[in-house]
Amino acid sequence: MNIDFTGKRALVTGAGKGIGRILAKVLVEYGAEVVAISRTQSDLDSLRIEIGCPIICADLSHAEAARQAAQAAGDIDLLVNNAGIAILQPFLEATADAFDQTMAVNVRAAFIVSQVIAGKLIARGRPGAIVNVSSQSSMRALYNHAAYCASKGALDQLTRVMALELGPYNIRVNAVNPTVTLTPMGEMAWGDPAKSGPMMQHIPLKRFAQPRDVAESIAFLLSDQANMISGVMLPVDGGFLVS
Ligand code: NDP
Repeated sequence: MNIDFTGKRALVTGAGKGIGRILAKVLVEYGAEVVAISRTQSDLDSLRIEIGCPIICADLSHAEAARQAAQAAGDIDLLVNNAGIAILQPFLEATADAFDQTMAVNVRAAFIVSQVIAGKLIARGRPGAIVNVSSQSSMRALYNHAAYCASKGALDQLTRVMALELGPYNIRVNAVNPTVTLTPMGEMAWGDPAKSGPMMQHIPLKRFAQPRDVAESIAFLLSDQANMISGVMLPVDGGFLVS
């Protein structure tokens, strides 16, 4: 399977670290021109040195900043809504502020950025592909993940509605739903062996995902090899959801 994004412009949110950063590199390897959005300038500066991509520093938790960042990205063919946060709190102690922040980044930013990019694709009469980076936690309850699980469940449903409404414009919309992935967020949430051991026991492949595992799955869904796939939530979970 030869994925070839030559001539395509791809926008990756949350490209500063983790899955988004590796994804930006993978898409460039496949020939795309990548535009990177993230929140920490130094991460973007080092990424620009590595892959020579245009960068946009923005805090996507603010609706207007998200809209402006998407506008600034220019004409985009492939969009990956990857930026996400996890604020882990037991349900009974979880704060409304943490809930709102989580929804603002994990759901609302994807909603706004997609509206802008899809609107421009439709105006240009161009086909497109969008992948939302969800999680296995959209389909399973995890301790201390109330806001996060709720946000990823919402993102799955947003993905389905976008697939429904954008399909007639030849814009495909899918999600990937990774298991624990070895990134800064993965380390924060699962670095404690007392937590990671039992989680890994539920994964038939008995390992966590590498960022590249997730990035390659996203690249597939963006590619012409997936040109009849829209509205799916693709687990990248080593089988966790069947266990
Ligand atoms: P990381 O925390 O390692 O990286 C997330 C990136 O997103 C960072 O560059 C971060 O920037 C950026 N970002 C976060 N908030 C904002 C914001 N408000 N505006 C702009 N950029 C922002 O996370 P991962 O790579 O692990 O996660 C990527 C996606 O994958 C997320 O949606 C996450 O929910 C999902 N996922 C992760 C799993 C895991 O185990 N790691 C498992 C399943 C899904 P900065 O550091 O500057 O804040």
